[in-house]
Amino acid sequence: MDSRMVKEAARKFGADLIGMTAIGSFAGTAPENDPRSIFPRGKSLIVIGRKILRGTLRGIENGSRAKGIFEDFGLYMLEDQFLSKTTYDLVIWMESAGFEAVPMFAYDADAAAKYPLGSPVAPGKPAPNVYVDWKHAAHLCGLGEVGRNGLFITPQFGTLQRFAMLITDAELESDEIITRNVCDNCDVCKKSCPLNDTLCHRCGSGAVQTSFGRFNTVDKIAAPCGRACLASLEERGLISCKHTTPFRKEVK
Ligand code: SF4
Repeated sequence: MDSRMVKEAARKFGADLIGMTAIGSFAGTAPENDPRSIFPRGKSLIVIGRKILRGTLRGIENGSRAKGIFEDFGLYMLEDQFLSKTTYDLVIWMESAGFEAVPMFAYDADAAAKYPLGSPVAPGKPAPNVYVDWKHAAHLCGLGEVGRNGLFITPQFGTLQRFAMLITDAELESDEIITRNVCDNCDVCKKSCPLNDTLCHRCGSGAVQTSFGRFNTVDKIAAPCGRACLASLEERGLISCKHTTPFRKEVK
């Protein structure tokens, strides 16, 4: 099995984005965020992504619907069903080829750290749950970078995707980290924020407050800073995915 075969399989199972890195890239990572704490024999980490449908933002942009469509198709169903199915199918395919892969949701590792679930099972081990920082992992896998608004931005879809991860004992060729900036500090996200604070966690205009299952995080992809970022990247030709109608920059 090589990286080309894994990428082909992932795309066949519905992935729009896929990148991989050698597990050694996580050298120096704290044990509570280190994929080797979960699978010590792991040799590679894979990040896969699926695009959030452009249409899930429509109801927020034109005020016809609040967040329901985005919450369903752009967050919960996308992560818990569609992306999970892609991840599951890829893991089954890898197992049938004689390898092991551990599937993981891309949850916020910093937020998870605020809710420790127990004590270490043995001396020297981190306490559960170990969560890999998915934004760091996706960056190491060459998929993009974290923008000024705190959202992960890819050259293909801007801020409009969701991710999952796999740790595998297959030795795969690493993708190169993107060296050019995807976020070019245009500052549009900050200017679009009704509270003039891109790091705020109080915005109710498209932001989704998650529950304890996702560690009470605030998802800002559909918030003004996330939507304005998309519109700005698209307007300046900085994302490759084309849509029939442009994203709207203005805040309703
Ligand atoms: S709006 Fe501009 S500054 Fe803000 S995250 Fe997007 S690209 Fe970066």
